[in-house]
Amino acid sequence: MPASAAPKALPAFDLLSPKPLDAARAKLDEVFGYKSFRLHQEGIIAALLEGRDCLALMPTGGGKSLCYQIPALVRTGSGVVVSPLIALMQDQVDALKDVGVKAAFLNSTLDRLAQDAIEREFAAGALDLLYVAPERLVQDRTLNLLARHEVALFAIDEAHCVSQWGHDFRPEYRQLKILATRFPNVPRIALTATADERTRQEIVTELSLEDAEVYVASFDRPNIRYTIAEMGSMSARERLWQFIASEHPNDAGIVYCLSRKSVEETAAWLSSKGRKALAYHAGLEPHIRAGAQTRFLNEDGVIVVATIAFGMGIDKPDVRFVAHLNLPKSIEAYYQETGRAGRDGEPADAWMAYGIGDVVQLRQWIAQSEGSDAFKHVQRQKLDALIGLAEMPGCRRQALLAYFGERLPEPCGNCDNCLNPPKTEDGTLAAQKALSAVYRTGQRYGVTYLCDVLMGKEDERIVRNGHDRLSVFGIGKEVPAATWKGLFRQLIAAGLLSADEEGHATLALTPSARPVLRGEAKFLIRVTRAPEKKSRREAKIIAKVSPQDETLLQALRALRLKLAAAAKLPPYVVAQDRTLIELAEKRPTDESGLHDITGLGASKIARYGKAFLEVIGQYKPHPMLNNRLASSVNQTLAAHLRGLDAEEIASEREIAVSTVYAHFADAIAAGLVEARAVLPLDDAQMDEILAAFERCNTLETGKLGPAHAALDGRYDFGVLKCILAELG
Ligand code: ADP
Ligand code: ZN
Repeated sequence: MPASAAPKALPAFDLLSPKPLDAARAKLDEVFGYKSFRLHQEGIIAALLEGRDCLALMPTGGGKSLCYQIPALVRTGSGVVVSPLIALMQDQVDALKDVGVKAAFLNSTLDRLAQDAIEREFAAGALDLLYVAPERLVQDRTLNLLARHEVALFAIDEAHCVSQWGHDFRPEYRQLKILATRFPNVPRIALTATADERTRQEIVTELSLEDAEVYVASFDRPNIRYTIAEMGSMSARERLWQFIASEHPNDAGIVYCLSRKSVEETAAWLSSKGRKALAYHAGLEPHIRAGAQTRFLNEDGVIVVATIAFGMGIDKPDVRFVAHLNLPKSIEAYYQETGRAGRDGEPADAWMAYGIGDVVQLRQWIAQSEGSDAFKHVQRQKLDALIGLAEMPGCRRQALLAYFGERLPEPCGNCDNCLNPPKTEDGTLAAQKALSAVYRTGQRYGVTYLCDVLMGKEDERIVRNGHDRLSVFGIGKEVPAATWKGLFRQLIAAGLLSADEEGHATLALTPSARPVLRGEAKFLIRVTRAPEKKSRREAKIIAKVSPQDETLLQALRALRLKLAAAAKLPPYVVAQDRTLIELAEKRPTDESGLHDITGLGASKIARYGKAFLEVIGQYKPHPMLNNRLASSVNQTLAAHLRGLDAEEIASEREIAVSTVYAHFADAIAAGLVEARAVLPLDDAQMDEILAAFERCNTLETGKLGPAHAALDGRYDFGVLKCILAELG
């Protein structure tokens, strides 16, 4: 812009000289090793640097911490962070120290001496960041301490704790209002992952943030793949094992169950399958629970099987899957629990299997709970919304976000329904049979009994009740019992049947059943999908690195465990998965190369850089795999190196044989392998093909069609392509 241009009213953050933001960017790279800010981080940081207040609403894993950590480093004085999660403070402070930030905390876990020492450090201006528990902060002693040294900013984390209506209400949070009057010139930022409007209003009023800039990030977690599996004929536990074995054979994850008993059984079952699986529920001794948590954080690939008690305040960023073996209570609960997966932004799974028993049991719990009728009504509605999500045929992410008031314009392409759209078919006749069975048996029985009647099972109880003489007895023999179970579940979800809530899991017709029974309305059913094929293919999409980098990645993981144990830190504090993946892919050879790796700031490079470089130096990829060809080509080559032939590779990778040959052709053209080594041809066949090439001028035209025809189509196009590649 020419210097003479008339000054305009600029948006507030443009008034900020570029310097402080440059300083913020420099800290981002130098300290944290990150190359760019995420959406909203920059705006929030700019506002705080200018001394304005902020309210940041971002989902878990959105990157809230940097929003106050960086301004605290850039501004003069120390940043003061209020957090209710005392158990996490030690970890947060350890992680900050590991990147070279001077951090400490004040809470009830410190003895007098340790507390005095930290207070002295703060007063001397020796701290960049001080974490304080809310009840501690509002004490006179602490407020006086804060007055003795410059405060760069106040960050109020988990700000929804101020909300009386929320499930995390903390009365001390309301006293934090005092910060606005005691420190009117210190910018304050409130942060939360709870998005609803009422909570937001309460935060603004209760914390005097009327003038704060509000930043609302999308609550979408695009790296999480949502899958809600129907039970089908397999038990939920078998489905779970199929999912874990194919998608996450070595990954850390959380499995949620409803009851303590099933927590213990499932943990034992996963252990028997060879996984490190630990039970966690409120009935276990505290030291056992603490032990499970420690192993989950400090070892690779641990699965915790838990009731919902587990997960609050677990900051582990590389939880690769969260599985539900039962329905959660509501969509809010589902979103919060699944949100613990993939905080590091890498691909993660939210997987759930549920059956009709869950619906019935949760309805009973609600009916028998203490609350008022209005309370029960709300709970029932919440459960119904979740069942609706589970049974819907459309994009799950669109539905989830819509529930939280956010619109996703296109289907996401990363949920089970997008990836493998369910088929619906006209199930009116089957629905009529099922509904009649309910009606004719007097609306007094549960699903198992009704299925037995439909299947014509000569059960003693059925005979005693005379139900073997009903017209519906045995009319469902042609389909398996599991299909009937699925149909009953869909009838309940669609509101045609209601489950009795007063104790027995009996089914009764609702008024909506009538039009279907009379043939006036159709009933569409979702056809249960076969999951096996799909999951293997997906496993490959999720595969983290190309095959040529896999051994190195394993070695780097092992190194990370070693470094973490030596530093007494969780492995993910030493280096996150993204960092290891980039190290394996880019293979830096010196310190300057390490600077380009995400997550490696100056302090980590100084501490761990040499060890990383050493391991990288030891792992040269196989010469055939040391290339820049597509990852899919290299997967084929890696399989070839394991001794598989084209047919075997095709079936293992679930791709066409001609695709395998096309991969070989690429490798041959790049001079990595010879045609003879990969083609199942003897000399006579080779000669025959070469002769045909000559007759058809294939080398000149580059077209394989004529030679293929001249050979009567006896050789796959891919085979011919390989030979052409070698000649060309
Ligand atoms: P939240 O507190 O919102 O749940 P965190 O602050 O823990 O999220 O950040 C989640 C993850 O994202 C962390 O692993 C963090 O290191 C990473 N992260 C945050 N900001 C960036 C960035 N600008 N670039 C790369 N990674 C980032
Ligand atoms: Zn989708």
